[in-house]
Amino acid sequence: MKLKSIIIFVIYGTLGSVGAFAQHSQDAHTHGQAHVTLVFENRHLVVEMTTPAANMLGFEHQPRSDPQWKVHEKLNQKLQRPDELIVLQPACVLESSMVELPFKRPEHDKSHEQHLSQAHHHNHEQDGEAYAEHRDIYSRYEWLCEHTAIPKLNFRYFNEYPDFKAISVLWIINGKQGMSELNKRTRTLEIVQ
Ligand SMILES: [Zn+2]
Repeated sequence: MKLKSIIIFVIYGTLGSVGAFAQHSQDAHTHGQAHVTLVFENRHLVVEMTTPAANMLGFEHQPRSDPQWKVHEKLNQKLQRPDELIVLQPACVLESSMVELPFKRPEHDKSHEQHLSQAHHHNHEQDGEAYAEHRDIYSRYEWLCEHTAIPKLNFRYFNEYPDFKAISVLWIINGKQGMSELNKRTRTLEIVQ
């Protein structure tokens, strides 16, 4: 009961600043950058990331061909298994992952080529133009760790996706709050408590 109250206090006590940060990250869609909010409390680690789709997909428009949909699908699968993207030391147990990619393949798309007419094709061109704007990828992961100290986090996004240049991390760790900046030279977040 006492522990629960502390968690609720910490989450609600910090919501204001996380909200402000989320607002800030929505405004700042900068290619090469990502914004992370990290909370570690009572051995639970939550990492939320928002980043321009261009960093990982290579484009921000609705995929227009089978190869582009394959890139999209491969990324979706990769993001579901964050163990290759965020390496924890010591390791923790992944409890949940949630991924939001900006595009969804239409149901009829697989038989697309068979009924593709000039008019139909033209409509798709227009769709492409309508979506000619910036898009983000959102992911959220939760782990349960064995120890009460936060593990080291190696952000392998820099290795897997060369377009990544910087990751801004707002962290709240056992009630303490701060910000860290990761980049190609500093890929590991190590916070000494
Ligand atoms: Zn963009």
